[in-house]
Amino acid sequence: MSKKILSLPGDGIGPEIVGEAVKVLTCLQDDFGLDIEMTEGLVGGAAYDAAGHPLPEATLDLAHDADAVLLGAVGGPKWESLDISVRPEKGLLGLRAELGLFANLRPAILYPQLAAASTLRADVVSGLDILIVRELTGGIYFGKPRGVETLPSGERRGVNTLVYTESEIDRICRVAFDIAMKRDKRVCSVDKANVLECTELWREVAIKAAADYPEIELSHMYVDNAAMQLVRAPKQFDVMVTTNMFGDILSDCAAMLTGSIGMLPSASLDADGKGMYEPIHGSAPDIAGKGVANPLATILSVAMMLRYSLDAPAHAERIEAAVSAVLDTGLRTPDIFSEGAERAGTRQMGDAVVSALRAV
Ligand code: NAD
Repeated sequence: MSKKILSLPGDGIGPEIVGEAVKVLTCLQDDFGLDIEMTEGLVGGAAYDAAGHPLPEATLDLAHDADAVLLGAVGGPKWESLDISVRPEKGLLGLRAELGLFANLRPAILYPQLAAASTLRADVVSGLDILIVRELTGGIYFGKPRGVETLPSGERRGVNTLVYTESEIDRICRVAFDIAMKRDKRVCSVDKANVLECTELWREVAIKAAADYPEIELSHMYVDNAAMQLVRAPKQFDVMVTTNMFGDILSDCAAMLTGSIGMLPSASLDADGKGMYEPIHGSAPDIAGKGVANPLATILSVAMMLRYSLDAPAHAERIEAAVSAVLDTGLRTPDIFSEGAERAGTRQMGDAVVSALRAV
């Protein structure tokens, strides 16, 4: 039965980059027999403008019905003055919550062709391939009590609560272990077990879950050391698994090791492998409509979708090989441009990936 993909281009550069990713999917469908049905919906500011809400019911219905969702980006200055309840970002958070997407997968891959784009020495980062698995629906971002209260003295007090149940920890660790089984079988669980009881429990549960994965080499690292090691010697890691907030911070740090925000995909998965796939960057209002945005992060998000939600790893590899082949030709959008390369726009880059797909 064909798999249903919902594309949600969103705002800013979203429609431009998703357009190129859809071209890639269409090529796989037409030339390589990928059995998919594609539909498109509205999210973010575009949805607010058209339907008065950043996540209209119609979009949510389509998302529930789909096997996977491809999202561009949401937000921009046009909607910044709206009430927080209808800001574009609410569309994204609503999708994550409604679809129960608790596992956020953020690879940090540095193609050797782009080693010069990193601020770190090429020998430290060239060929980097790590995956951060971040818990996305629990932890301090959601824990209660939360808020700011005024004490009898008149002084205000802010409160957030770090809370995880054993089952929440267990399921995210198992996602990391399952993925690591398809990689180098090494998982580093990041916590602050020396200070936070909640992450002491995290460590205990991670060790217990790992007993079901005898081939996995599980290690543990305090988050402060992990931040340092990511910058000192990032290639020591294969898969890292951590809490919502630690993962938020560490995955941005890991992303910047590669120096090119326009290259990095991400996935957010539910308990059954259904997922939402999106580039890690935002809607880039400064370059929207100019035809210069790098579509490769979105195209690589499609590769993740094929691997994790559509059970089509051969197609995923095809896309990754095509992207690498395009980089070999020296074609570069402005964000990854370096001396001696050939400048390309969004469309030219997408077309080059499609041509490379047909050639590999
Ligand atoms: P951003 O990621 O949109 O842009 C940061 C910088 O990176 C900009 O200079 C931009 O031009 C550049 N950039 C981003 N993607 C690029 C690409 N594909 N090719 C080339 N250059 C690229 O972050 P920001 O400027 O902080 O945020 C802009 C808007 O995006 C805000 O409204 C923010 O809320 C929203 N945002 C959305 C998401 C999302 O939808 N997941 C994520 C982050 C930010």
